[in-house]
Amino acid sequence: MQLQSLNQTQLQALERELAEQYQSFQAQNLKLDLTRGKPSSEQLSLSDALDGILAGNYKAEDGTDCRNYAILDGIPEIKRLGAAIMGLPVEQVLAGGNASLTLMYQTVQHALTIGFNGPDSAWQNEGKIKFACPVPGYDRHFTICEFFGIEMIPVAMTDTGPDMAALTELVSNDPSIKGVWCVPKYSNPTGIIYSDDVVKAMAELPKVAGANFKIFWDNAYAVHDLVSTPNPLANIFDYASQAGTDDAVLQFCSTSKVTHAGAGVAFLGASQANLASFIKGLSVSTIGPDKVNQLRHARFLPDMDALQAHMQKHAAILKPRFDMVLKYLNEDLANTGMGEWESPEGGYFIAFDTLPGLAKAVVKLAADAGVKLTPAGATFPYGKDPEDRNIRIAPSVPGLDELEKAMQIFVLSVKLASVRQALA
Ligand code: PLP
Repeated sequence: MQLQSLNQTQLQALERELAEQYQSFQAQNLKLDLTRGKPSSEQLSLSDALDGILAGNYKAEDGTDCRNYAILDGIPEIKRLGAAIMGLPVEQVLAGGNASLTLMYQTVQHALTIGFNGPDSAWQNEGKIKFACPVPGYDRHFTICEFFGIEMIPVAMTDTGPDMAALTELVSNDPSIKGVWCVPKYSNPTGIIYSDDVVKAMAELPKVAGANFKIFWDNAYAVHDLVSTPNPLANIFDYASQAGTDDAVLQFCSTSKVTHAGAGVAFLGASQANLASFIKGLSVSTIGPDKVNQLRHARFLPDMDALQAHMQKHAAILKPRFDMVLKYLNEDLANTGMGEWESPEGGYFIAFDTLPGLAKAVVKLAADAGVKLTPAGATFPYGKDPEDRNIRIAPSVPGLDELEKAMQIFVLSVKLASVRQALA
């Protein structure tokens, strides 16, 4: 049934039928939540062996007593794991504390106030600066920009990554644009993987950008595949080396959604020059990261084989949840003209685009029937989705029964909002 092919009488009949179903859900007083993009307790339990794994042996492979101060860039065995995840030589990796978001915040701050290439390169010397922000995107990236007073310019996402023609034109015409946020694999929230062409074009972007431009390559979902033969993501540093833009790329990842989300290890991958500059700044604020936790992680996940085997256990828990969301979208909304979505093969989110002007209405309808969704607009800079279309669905936390109920209400809310819009 295509919404656009229904006449007024059919629309009215459909509205009555949907409203009745909706009221019966409302009467159930449900309390369901699709907002939480974090691992479920079941997933967190996969890593409980971290607790006590050191069994009194606190020595890193180079003899470092991990209980003590020092080693700003992390112990060798955990840097090796970070290097393998990011596809970089170990010399280009820093292992830090528990949050890659902190590293993103700190690197933005470093570029703004200290300068990766000496004081003359600090963005703050140039007055008002801007970031290009592929949308929809990760709200916390946008919050960092907002906090530092960096203006955000949205750039449309496609199903192969940001619209590179638009981004390249934007950046080449405005040297005050100093950075771009990217979630290249299983993008938050659309779940797509940047194509080779997009990664190559991204690595070439700094050549046409103003001075000290940086690509914030947030590879948060680098190893978070739900399928056994995932599409690969090209290595941006390979293309950056060819383009001579290594110093413009800062890569991030963490074990937050691998082990314990609040007690993992975060990594920064960057040129050696950038790392040296960043570490010099870092040394003012800390004497060293939590190396005991780094060692626990290195013992728990000694290499990529161990990591991949572990990620398969996550996939076994997550995949049925993604399948459930997609089943409802495909069975109830495909070919209705009421919305669009991708079918991600990894990551934590599925993004749904309603008809223009309906995201807020759908979120409200779902909320009034007991399903909490991330506020419409949250995936855009300043919380403003100009078309009011995008809704982020996070299926990892609810159990399958809860998720099924929540999706029944979600698709019903989409249908009701769409039919009412058509009638208005
Ligand atoms: N980057 C993206 C794209 C995310 O979706 C998230 C969490 O949802 C993070 C970073 C946070 O990572 P961390 O826990 O390492 O700070």
